[in-house]
Amino acid sequence: MSQCLIAANWKLNGNWQLCQRFVELQAEIALTSVQLVICPPAVYLQSLSASLSSGDFAAAEKPQRNIAPAISIGAQNVAAQSSGAFTGELSAAMLAEVGAHYCIVGHSERRAGFGETDTEVAIKSAQLLVQGLTPIICVGEDLAQRESDQALTVIEAQLIALADVLKDEAAGIVIAYEPIWAIGTGQTATPQQAQEVHEHIRKVLGRYREASGVPLLYGGSVNPGNAQSLLAMPDIDGALVGGASLDPEQLMSIVRAAELSSKLA
Ligand code: PEP
Repeated sequence: MSQCLIAANWKLNGNWQLCQRFVELQAEIALTSVQLVICPPAVYLQSLSASLSSGDFAAAEKPQRNIAPAISIGAQNVAAQSSGAFTGELSAAMLAEVGAHYCIVGHSERRAGFGETDTEVAIKSAQLLVQGLTPIICVGEDLAQRESDQALTVIEAQLIALADVLKDEAAGIVIAYEPIWAIGTGQTATPQQAQEVHEHIRKVLGRYREASGVPLLYGGSVNPGNAQSLLAMPDIDGALVGGASLDPEQLMSIVRAAELSSKLA
C-alpha cells in the first residue's frame, strides 16, 4: 500500500467555515502523497465538493502521480435502501450525485446508538459499491472484549459477516480498525496492538481476495503526537481521525506525519 489515506470523521460537528479552511489547505495537501478524505455532516457535502473541484488541484498539482484528488469527500452514513418511504435517509445514489466518493459504515457510534447490525453494514456497503462509492467499513472490539482476549475473534466475526462484499475482488473497500475503548477517549492502541489486529484483518481478508491492496486504517484518538508511530507499522495504511480532524492545524500535522512515514516505508 503506497498511498497513505487519512479520513476525517467530523461526526455532528463542524460548519461551513471549517469546510472552507480545508478548501484553502487543498494546495498544500496536493503537494504531499497523502489522500485526505473529509467526511463532514451530509448537508455540507455538495458545497464542499463543488468548492474543492473548482480549484481542480487534482489535475493541476498531481498530474504525474496519476492518483485521486488531494481531498475527497465522504459521507458518514447511508441508507440500507435505495429509495422509498424512509424519512430522513439518504441513498447511495444521492451521495454519489453530490460528489461523495467514500462513506463510513459500521462506525461503533452507529452500531451502539442507532442499532446498525453487521447485516446492515453489509447491505449498506453493497449499496455504496453499486453507486461507485468506496465504503470505509469500521470494525473493532469494546474494552471488555479486549480485556478478555476476544478482540481478534470479535473482529473476525464482523468481517465474516461481510463475506459477500469481501469476495468481490473488483469492489474497492477500506477497512478501519477502531477499538471502541480508544474512540474519543484519548486512550490510543499502541502501535503493536494496532499492528497485531491489522495483520489479522489482512489475513482474514486474504481468505476472500488479494488483501495486500486493501487500505487498512487505524482509528481511535489519533493525534499529531502518535500518528507517526502508528503509521510506521507495516499493516497500517492510514488513519480515521475524529476529534483531531476538527482542528485544521492538527489534521495537517497528521497529514505531514503520514507523508513522512510513507517516505520512510
Ligand atoms: C472516530 O470516531 O472515528 C474516531 C476515531 O474518533 P477519535 O479520533 O476522536 O477517537
